[in-house]
Amino acid sequence: MAKGIAGMPASPGIVDGQVHLLRWEVPDVRHRIIHDDAIPGEIKRFHAALEQARERLHQVRARAEKHAGPEEAAIFDVQLSILEDGELLRQVEELIQQSLGAEKAFDLVLFEWRQQFASHVRPMLRERVGDLIDVHIRVLTILLGLPDHDPVDLPKGSNKILVTHDLTPSLTVQLDREAIIGIATDAGTRTSHVAILARSLGLPAVVGLRDATEQLNGNEHVILDGTSGVLVIDPTPSQVKAYRDRRAVQALEDKELQALAAAESVTLDGHWVTLRANVDLPEEAQYAAHSGAEGVGLMRTEFLVVGRATMPDEEEQYRAYRHVVEAFGGRPVVIRTFDVGGDKLPVGGYPTDPNPFLGWRAIRMCLDEPELFKTQLRALLRAAMHGDVRIMFPLIITLDEVKQAKHLLNEAAAELDARGVPYRHDLPLGVMVETPAAALSVHTLVDDVSFFSIGTNDLVQYTLAVDRGSANLASRFTPLHPAVLTLIIAVCGEMASQPLMAFALIGLGVRSLSVAGRAVPLVKRIVRGVSVAVAAEAANAALESRTAREAEGELRRRLMTAFGDAPFLRDGLPDFADGNIFEGSGGLKTSSARE
Ligand code: PEP
Ligand code: MG
Repeated sequence: MAKGIAGMPASPGIVDGQVHLLRWEVPDVRHRIIHDDAIPGEIKRFHAALEQARERLHQVRARAEKHAGPEEAAIFDVQLSILEDGELLRQVEELIQQSLGAEKAFDLVLFEWRQQFASHVRPMLRERVGDLIDVHIRVLTILLGLPDHDPVDLPKGSNKILVTHDLTPSLTVQLDREAIIGIATDAGTRTSHVAILARSLGLPAVVGLRDATEQLNGNEHVILDGTSGVLVIDPTPSQVKAYRDRRAVQALEDKELQALAAAESVTLDGHWVTLRANVDLPEEAQYAAHSGAEGVGLMRTEFLVVGRATMPDEEEQYRAYRHVVEAFGGRPVVIRTFDVGGDKLPVGGYPTDPNPFLGWRAIRMCLDEPELFKTQLRALLRAAMHGDVRIMFPLIITLDEVKQAKHLLNEAAAELDARGVPYRHDLPLGVMVETPAAALSVHTLVDDVSFFSIGTNDLVQYTLAVDRGSANLASRFTPLHPAVLTLIIAVCGEMASQPLMAFALIGLGVRSLSVAGRAVPLVKRIVRGVSVAVAAEAANAALESRTAREAEGELRRRLMTAFGDAPFLRDGLPDFADGNIFEGSGGLKTSSARE
């Protein structure tokens, strides 16, 4: 009988195929003492391993260049230079001279180096920890004769389902989408950035499987159901048939939904709801532009950085933003400045704060690194020449931050003036409401910005003190918790997130939602299938509930009544992906659910 492992649905779709198990972890190494006469041979063995690692890295680099691009491939240059670092080699050889086996000598030195780099005062050096870990794993794998698990050699069309503990940026840039058809990870949740990236790539994914890498040996055939969040191991032929039938039904439903692209986003009782798309990668822009979205509600620019060793320069950013802006014609495109930090990190990661989500992240980092920030702002001002660009600052908690950001924007404009480069300066500026601090002090910001957008992934995380990326806490990540509902009401009478919540949000008065491009038709279907009157009654019932579960029950019951026995309700409501950015049209002043 086939076994199923339950995780969390991260990116919809059903696929089946052979497992590609990727164990990318530092292996355990035994302490091994060698005889004096074995020392020269051991040093030779160490150098041979380095040479093999170098060859492998060159292959990996070439592959990444082909699949992801030259900038992404450059991350491996850092790792190549570590393999040639004279001091590192000297320290390993010294330990071997003291009769330690090569693998243990290398293991000890790498641990030591990682610790030193992790606590270094210079961010650039702290960033190198991720590279050291990759080198640590790669060389030990060779010295210990372990199987090479790099995803690099998969033949095209091999239809593999990648199962791994977590998807790091350096693994992500190696992913060959012509070989991998689905992703399953032990770690992560639906709001972690692996999930966001999988949705952007359109790859079905299940995350938070906890110990899938332990339960599998790599020889299995599996069904991955990214819609309900299950991995079925060695399914029976009848199970495979049942899943393939379901996939066919889903494909039909998707087709039906696509037909909604041109339909108006208006409720049964005539209220308009602006529906915009979230865009994480510039390549998604065309798809999102044809999804029926009325513009971009959130472009997550940090995905230009994740998986890279260096920041993109002004020209590269300008091209990326312009590409998205042009894809949407004159429709509004809200571009968020870098939200690097938390779990969205460039290769090697930024500071190893003990609590990265409470640390040097988003606007905090950008204000402390004005040159980096101004490079982005100049690119945005220039891209604004090509359409309706609006700039949004993430993780704002004080008015000072807004003022500083505006000051740097003025400086960026002056720099463009000095260069004689054309740009637009009259752009609407907005902030994200992502913390209880912002929600409760939003009145202090209202005169200085043109719009607000609530990021519920973070608002829920910070209000409930529940790490959005922790698989162990996923059941506690409850956007319908009374505290979250109350905060959102305090902000602007609005709230949002998963499918059911679009319904709640409409009921609470929200008239502008931004969701992943692929979710636009589904949300539109909900908008068109409900009336504001019924949604408002459901939202009020949810507000009066004492628990998130009770609130969910109130909403679900009424939504099911509105949609009858629709198949997408029977399966449990599919995720809106990260459909969690929403703004009251015109911001706070106009949109109180209680009014
Ligand atoms: C959010 O926090 O809800 C949000 C949209 O931003 P991100 O998921 O990129 O942190
Ligand atoms: Mg956020």
